[in-house]
Amino acid sequence: MNELQSAALVTGGSRGIGKACAITLAKAGYTVLLTYVSRPEEAERTVAEIASAGGNAQAFQLNVGDAEAVSDFFNNEIRGKFSLDVLVNNAGITKDTLLIRMKDEDFDRVLQINLRGSFICLREAAKIMMKQRSGRIINISSVCGQMGNAGQANYCAAKAGLIGLTKSAAKELAGRGITVNAVAPGFIETDMTAVLPEEVKKSYVDSIPLKRLGTPQDIADAVAFLASPAAGYITGQVLAVNGGMYC
Ligand code: NAP
Repeated sequence: MNELQSAALVTGGSRGIGKACAITLAKAGYTVLLTYVSRPEEAERTVAEIASAGGNAQAFQLNVGDAEAVSDFFNNEIRGKFSLDVLVNNAGITKDTLLIRMKDEDFDRVLQINLRGSFICLREAAKIMMKQRSGRIINISSVCGQMGNAGQANYCAAKAGLIGLTKSAAKELAGRGITVNAVAPGFIETDMTAVLPEEVKKSYVDSIPLKRLGTPQDIADAVAFLASPAAGYITGQVLAVNGGMYC
């Protein structure tokens, strides 16, 4: 029987932190399967960047909020075609406002994408990895899930929930050789944070002991570590990559 190619799936791998993870995991030798939802051109640009550096990547449109589509994706595009060695649950959104103004649908939507979407991808990946008896699952949480943040009750609840999901999944899946960890980024320069006013960004930098915003590469390096053999005995942990913002 032919050995299957080793793949890393990065949800929301088209831009920002997910893109840096996709490029870094491709450099580490994985075939990268990256997903996007609304911007195919960004996804194709990331695939082309990986190919021009000598790596392998494919882009797929996949809304992680659509459980049926996620299940079809794992069955049709991964099962039997790749050895799924790494899952990075990175896709995420924000819908910020003070909690007394937060609409039910904005709370639900953020939970649906950030938490339920990660759960569904984790569950589908676990079915494949359990048969392989190996795999690395890395959930992208947030410093906001650890310390809370005014105006982000929905997002913080989802990101804190992701930590509980990580720890529970780590306990359930360890017996099959699968590790599950979270990375909790601090304030990282991406499209998600580009919308914030300059004075808000400056106040964040002032509150960060290392006195700079994080880069997508800072997070990708932590993800690559957790995916590497060096992290084989680490599971159920939250690796904070936040410049000392929250210790
Ligand atoms: P970003 O620049 O806004 O990129 C988000 C990515 O997720 C894009 O690839 C986007 O695809 C994809 N996406 C959005 N909704 C999706 C859905 N329903 N299904 C599948 N994919 C979806 O975000 P980022 O700043 O890189 O953040 C990445 C992750 O890190 C998120 O989970 C975020 O919460 C977390 N995080 C970020 C920061 C920060 O400061 N930036 C800090 C802590 C944690 P399209 O391009 O097609 O829209």
